[in-house]
Amino acid sequence: MGKKNRIEVIDLFDLGVAHRTGCYVLQEEELTIIETGPSPSVPYIRQGLHKLGYTLEDVKHIIVTHIHLDHAGGVGLLLRECPNANVIVHEKGARHLIDPKRLVAGARAVYGEQFQELFEPIIPVPEDRIVIKREGDTLKIGDECTLAFWDTPGHSNHHLAIYDPVSHGIFSGDTVGIRYEQLVKEGVAFYLPSTSPNQFNPTAMLDAINRMKALNLDVLYFGHYGYTENSKEAFKQIEMWLPIFVDEAKEVHQEGGNYGILRDRLLNEVQVYLQSKGIDESHPVYGLIQLDITVSSMGLMEYAMKAASA
Ligand SMILES: [Zn+2]
Repeated sequence: MGKKNRIEVIDLFDLGVAHRTGCYVLQEEELTIIETGPSPSVPYIRQGLHKLGYTLEDVKHIIVTHIHLDHAGGVGLLLRECPNANVIVHEKGARHLIDPKRLVAGARAVYGEQFQELFEPIIPVPEDRIVIKREGDTLKIGDECTLAFWDTPGHSNHHLAIYDPVSHGIFSGDTVGIRYEQLVKEGVAFYLPSTSPNQFNPTAMLDAINRMKALNLDVLYFGHYGYTENSKEAFKQIEMWLPIFVDEAKEVHQEGGNYGILRDRLLNEVQVYLQSKGIDESHPVYGLIQLDITVSSMGLMEYAMKAASA
């Protein structure tokens, strides 16, 4: 099996947008998928697997990098159609898949009125279908493929990264931020950190990135969206933006400002940067960038508040 078709990505049309959130299909002896997206994405997984010649009954493992609803909100709904699959999750995420009440409350606080359209229904995962993976654990899915799990906090405390030895790649979830596929056709590789509420930790994020860097990866797979064979560039950009995000947040916090002020400042810096790469402020990618920076600003302000009182 060649690298390119051994791993396929299904576009989940999260937020109704193409190339926003992806589900990876690992075509090994034990068919494995990574990320489900939110519940409205489940039909895209079904269709995407059919196109590859599978049904949902063929799925043996559903791995979620973390339990934020845009990555794992659809797992309960999907699992109803996958009688032969289990769900692999970080130990700190398991109980929230079994009882999603707190997860729902957290996402409602961030997404407000859009919650219903973006995420419902949230179906609990039966406890006996859950497999917890911790740092150093592995999962053999093919004769030549044993995945390795890393505990990678930074974006959230319940975050796993998954190392695939066959492609020498890592499924990084949100730990290495967001890749804007929309700019690839403009010849611009662009990445921003994802610092959502409420467990963002820049030190842990950089630690995880440093671990990944040390491997000299051939591929880096993102939750949002797609993959790059130039992981060095992705790491470099995240390392550039992360201190900007954190310093601006601390400043806005000191000045008594709110996340809206921070959002506007960060958006402005991103616009200046992208303009220097030839991307106009009317480019449709800004719909996503605005949303991402809004959510990231909420997490940054929480972090700045905690850091100031520590
Ligand atoms: Zn997330």
